[in-house]
Amino acid sequence: MDRKQEIKDLAKKLGMDLCGVAGIDRFAESPPGRHPTELLPGCRSVIVVAKRLLDGVVQANFRAYEDDMYGMKGLWGTYGYTMLPNFELTYVCYALANYIEHELDEVATPLSTGPMTNGAQISLRHSAVAAGLGEFGWLGIVLTPEFGPRQRFGVVLTTAELEPDPMYDGPRLCDPEKCGICTKVCPVQALSKPGEGEPKHVSMGGKSYDYCRIDMVRCLVAEYAMTKGLNGKADYTDKLDMSFEELAKVQASMPISEAGLQHTESWHCGKCQVYCPAGNWGERYKKRGLSRGVGAIKKVDPLGGGKE
Ligand code: SF4
Ligand code: SF4
Repeated sequence: MDRKQEIKDLAKKLGMDLCGVAGIDRFAESPPGRHPTELLPGCRSVIVVAKRLLDGVVQANFRAYEDDMYGMKGLWGTYGYTMLPNFELTYVCYALANYIEHELDEVATPLSTGPMTNGAQISLRHSAVAAGLGEFGWLGIVLTPEFGPRQRFGVVLTTAELEPDPMYDGPRLCDPEKCGICTKVCPVQALSKPGEGEPKHVSMGGKSYDYCRIDMVRCLVAEYAMTKGLNGKADYTDKLDMSFEELAKVQASMPISEAGLQHTESWHCGKCQVYCPAGNWGERYKKRGLSRGVGAIKKVDPLGGGKE
């Protein structure tokens, strides 16, 4: 069996839902210090694995947005985008790297993912697109045909020369002019609309992608529940245009949460991600009665819009 297939089979056995391989020529536009060969001298291949988010966890966010069950938000934080899938990816990337070093006699560097990254070494999103797993969606993260934006990625760099997978060439997964759900549902209007300023642009592997400009301060205001409209204890929506430095200061002054071990309240938003229709959304959620759709969103947008 060829070495790439061995690695993919192992990734699947270890619980990964997707696995792809990119050649390093697809990283020509990497910023200084983040090219695979700078992170691992002699790197020839970039392996990307993906863990899908459980439907039973994604639906916890639907319960919050459609049924006012905000206690369910913690599931999104714990088992969804923020915590556990990232731990699993970390273990699997380590296991794959061990296999490559022990069985294939090559060097392998597992990169970190999730809350313990302390700054990503490489863009996981760009790596996933380079490995042929999907394409950039307008919301700024990667859509796969299987799961839309509802998965997390992990990366292993290796000196092993593996046949790169082709870039994703299937049907277009995102047409923001026709869809635009992510920009409409965002409670703090953090995502630019098509035609609103210059989009972000990426080229790799002979393909090019445009996606929105994300106002990360606004997104973090929602993530950190810095508004009573998202169950926060205090309202900071008059500070939406603050800098990251100011955001850190404001966050440090937020009232202490009595709800759990977290220092302050959090919202773990993910609204754009759960309502993005890519990845067989209708079959997966609507037909199975897990969501009634964006029209059923009850939460009032703290800025006075955001509902269909
Ligand atoms: S996670 Fe929430 S606040 Fe951030 S961009 Fe998506 S919808 Fe907006
Ligand atoms: S919600 Fe619609 S516009 Fe936004 S990323 Fe998904 S498919 Fe694209």
